[in-house]
Amino acid sequence: MAPFLYVQEEYENVRRALDESLRYDYGPGQTVDYYEECRFRLDGIRAELERRAAPVSAIVSQLWDLANRLTLIERSHLGEFSLPFADAIREIASPLLLEDEGLEGGHQPIIHMIAEGTSYQITSEKVMGPNKRRRLYTVAFPRQLKHHVLMHALFGHELGHATFYSSRAGDLFSSDPLSIRLTKTLRREGHLRDAASVMAWLRSEDAPERVQRKMKDTAATITEANLEHWIVELVCDLFRLAIFGPAFVAAHRTYLEPSCKNPHEIEIEKTSHPSCALRRAVLVGALRAMGWLDPVATVANSELLTAERSLIDYLGGPVEPWAEVFTADQLREAMAAIGEHFTATGTPLAQRPSENVLADLVARIGKHLPPIREEVDEEGVSTTHPVRLEEQLYAGWTYWLGREAFHARPLDFYALNQLCDLALLQQQAIDLSAGRREL
Ligand SMILES: [Zn+2]
Repeated sequence: MAPFLYVQEEYENVRRALDESLRYDYGPGQTVDYYEECRFRLDGIRAELERRAAPVSAIVSQLWDLANRLTLIERSHLGEFSLPFADAIREIASPLLLEDEGLEGGHQPIIHMIAEGTSYQITSEKVMGPNKRRRLYTVAFPRQLKHHVLMHALFGHELGHATFYSSRAGDLFSSDPLSIRLTKTLRREGHLRDAASVMAWLRSEDAPERVQRKMKDTAATITEANLEHWIVELVCDLFRLAIFGPAFVAAHRTYLEPSCKNPHEIEIEKTSHPSCALRRAVLVGALRAMGWLDPVATVANSELLTAERSLIDYLGGPVEPWAEVFTADQLREAMAAIGEHFTATGTPLAQRPSENVLADLVARIGKHLPPIREEVDEEGVSTTHPVRLEEQLYAGWTYWLGREAFHARPLDFYALNQLCDLALLQQQAIDLSAGRREL
């Protein structure tokens, strides 16, 4: 078969796959947008085919890229991930990832949810071409953690990567004003100011014994490029703290600690990620700088205060002073810079619940009810209130880590997560009926 005929055949194959993709039962949200974007791309490819303008290889590669996208539609089945959390991610991500096209207005990204793999991932299209209109992002929920919304705060880090590497932000270390500002702040002083300082810090006498042993055995050094990667990872950690608040740090510790054999492990020769110990120290420093290691509960709610203190002990966990590489001022300024960016893009900065809200939400969990805020008067009329996602997560973690303070029927972690998942769904319904959100 001549190559040109086969490319026509492949075009028909992809077109059929797109038509067939409509037969599945997908979740609400942007499925129609996704389909329309694929249709737009297919039409563009057909025009190129008819004009015979582009080389055959370029058309084939566009068709295969589109065919790959179609397989992703099929992996977005209802019931394999938390729909309300997926919706929350889309709400947080859409303004952050909006691409400003100047006079033409903004291009809304399409954020597609799938259940796949065992870790939290967000991937984005790096290269856009003339046949593409809106950038596609794929958010992959680990299938085995379907209802574990208390763990889903881990997505915040990936949202950081997606934001910094969207075309608007460009290269983290060259053009984006937020990235430049954050990098300047974090490298202004302290052990991470340049590669030589990192090496001096790793070789210092007060380094943990494991680090000292490792450093004695190696002649390798950390380069400026390695250090830049470290800064990106730490910035993305601060980013998710800004999105999900302390709940994220609880998820981070819970998820990473069991899989981390040596918290100081780094591969000097090809390091791209700072050690777990360093990441934790930076997060704890940021929590302290934000005032998030002081409880919201007071002695007026003594059980709640005891429970929240258990959460805070867990969040602030043991941190080695050696691993604290930034000053409180650096972390406060970095969080403020992220906060300003959020304000400019219309993304809400994480907040903790007030004492009353926390008391209401935790009391509901104690009764094995989803943590929403509702009062029912003597006539049975219910009044509901807005509650933010990160407030629900904070209440969930407070209950879990402080459960011994309450005299309630035991609740296992899975059931607690299911309650929190249900609460997100109920809150959507509450906000819809109150006109605070649209379908
Ligand atoms: Zn990362």
